[in-house]
Amino acid sequence: MRYQMHRNAKWQGIGELTASMAHELRNPLTVVRGFLQLLQRDGVDPQKRETFLKMGIEELDRSESIIRNYLSYAKPQFERMEAVDVCERITHVTGIISPFATLRGVMIDTVCEHNLSTMADPEQLSQVLMNLLKNGIEAMPDGGTVTVRAYKRSRQLIIEIADCGVGMTPDELTKLGNPFFTTKESGTGLGLMVCYQIIHSINGRIDVQSEKGKGTQFTLLLPAL
Ligand code: ADP
Ligand code: MG
Repeated sequence: MRYQMHRNAKWQGIGELTASMAHELRNPLTVVRGFLQLLQRDGVDPQKRETFLKMGIEELDRSESIIRNYLSYAKPQFERMEAVDVCERITHVTGIISPFATLRGVMIDTVCEHNLSTMADPEQLSQVLMNLLKNGIEAMPDGGTVTVRAYKRSRQLIIEIADCGVGMTPDELTKLGNPFFTTKESGTGLGLMVCYQIIHSINGRIDVQSEKGKGTQFTLLLPAL
């Protein structure tokens, strides 16, 4: 019964999200169409041409991220639950994201206790870690360090992801997880929504502490196995 209610609520959410996703996709598509029209003209200045192409590609990439994030929200009913080694996931994800971090002058520091496991879909847990790390890196335009800590406290696994970046105002904090809330020029505002949805589905919780200009810490609290 509870499961059914949860499902219905979720599908209702998907209907709303689909409508707003369609709306969000229209903007980049209109922009790309405009650039293509400009490029169609004869004698476009080569420098302008390059800018139009670059911005067009960025808009298409953004559309692709919107669709990818939307799909990962819409299909978690195919989740594959198993005992997941949290440190192994953290190592995996930091490995994948490290070129992106290096490019932005960000170091990722990891402190992880051994033998931490929780019931989850490993791919989904990776996605949560990936989205939070990416946000941490993006919050530090001048580089810095993102610290990841994982440990056990009584029956909970705690994973902390902290940055010393731009931080958030109390008003921004209340909007976290709302679909399409973004303060980034080419953000999707879907990453955290997906994180909240996945963590709730495994009976976990996400806490956030943030101070404008100082930094942000996301804390995942998960049931330990
Ligand atoms: P996106 O990253 O595409 O903007 P997210 O859902 O991942 O979408 O994040 C939504 C918004 O939350 C961001 O645009 C940013 O304003 C804020 N935010 C998330 N993580 C952080 C962080 N670590 N530091 C500062 N702001 C953050
Ligand atoms: Mg993000």
